[in-house]
Amino acid sequence: MTAPLIDPFARAIRYLRVSVTDRCDFRCTYCMAEHMTFLPKADLLTLEELDRLCSAFIGLGLRKLRVTGGEPLVRRGILTFFQAMARHLESGALDELTLTTNGSQLARFADDLAACGVRRVNVSLDTLDPAKFAAITRWGRLDQVLEGIAAARAAGLRIKINAVALKGVNEEELFTLTDWCAREGHDLTFIEVMPMGDMADRLDQYWPLTDLRARLAARFTLTDLDERTGGPARYLRLEETGQKIGLITPLTHNFCESCNRVRLTCTGELFPCLGQEQASDLRGVLRASDDPAVLKTAIRAAIARKPKGHDFDYSRQRVAGQISRHMSHTGG
Ligand code: SAM
Ligand code: SF4
Repeated sequence: MTAPLIDPFARAIRYLRVSVTDRCDFRCTYCMAEHMTFLPKADLLTLEELDRLCSAFIGLGLRKLRVTGGEPLVRRGILTFFQAMARHLESGALDELTLTTNGSQLARFADDLAACGVRRVNVSLDTLDPAKFAAITRWGRLDQVLEGIAAARAAGLRIKINAVALKGVNEEELFTLTDWCAREGHDLTFIEVMPMGDMADRLDQYWPLTDLRARLAARFTLTDLDERTGGPARYLRLEETGQKIGLITPLTHNFCESCNRVRLTCTGELFPCLGQEQASDLRGVLRASDDPAVLKTAIRAAIARKPKGHDFDYSRQRVAGQISRHMSHTGG
């Protein structure tokens, strides 16, 4: 195995999340404005550039690649990119190729993704109520996503549902979602809403997972699991159902000390930390030279700037450490 990239705080970087587009067929209220101006095509990394960049990371010891967006499955030709990355799974250089999707296009892509070696998929789904789903996503239809999930399961993909915890929106659906995932055999992770992009109403929607956990504890026996993925998720088991539930609590817990990941935007900026503004422009490097050695030097330099942690903080009812980028730009 290739020696990993090591950042200044001795963390091994094994995981890249790559956003392949800033576009999306939904307009989730906590993620995008209804009328978005998207980037000109020339600003986006081409599929070939994405391949060069991800392959360089893999050559530097990266083991896990997650494709995200925007909505990754609306990027034209995206399957070509998955097919290209499959060679790294086949060679054993990469352990996992996966994606985070809103599920709208999964019915179309599930079989092909499975054929590329994708084994798991994260599907974002905050509610099982069609009207609420339409209100949250603005342009989405629940039945289309449920069809996508069914197709992914039929293709043999393991499914993890990611639900953003939204006060007054899906609070009363905690058990509905939990029971549905238990019945369907899906993993489930709740995410605290983060201060990204346009902050209107965001503070009102903040539902701390400490409270969500307490509500789960009223009905189930909870066991904390040691499992760590190097990310912000902590896991617990519901003893009565055997289900594993993930809690992503960037705002109530600091997870930075074990962070093993970096993020690449669709324009080739490498963000070593989701919660900080510093980024390195790798697109410029890619377009200036064909030499893989130059690219690897630039990646090493970018990792050397990974900060110790982020500054998000909702305490005192004000938002500190707010980041102006939209989540769809950095890639969730
Ligand atoms: N379109 C895909 C999807 O929705 O799964 C991938 C990109 S989306 C930006 C990735 C994840 O970020 C989704 O699970 C979404 O719910 C989450 N997300 C978006 N905005 C967020 C916010 N302000 N706070 C917390 N999670 C957010
Ligand atoms: Fe699109 Fe995902 Fe953002 Fe929703 S969360 S608007 S599906 S990118």
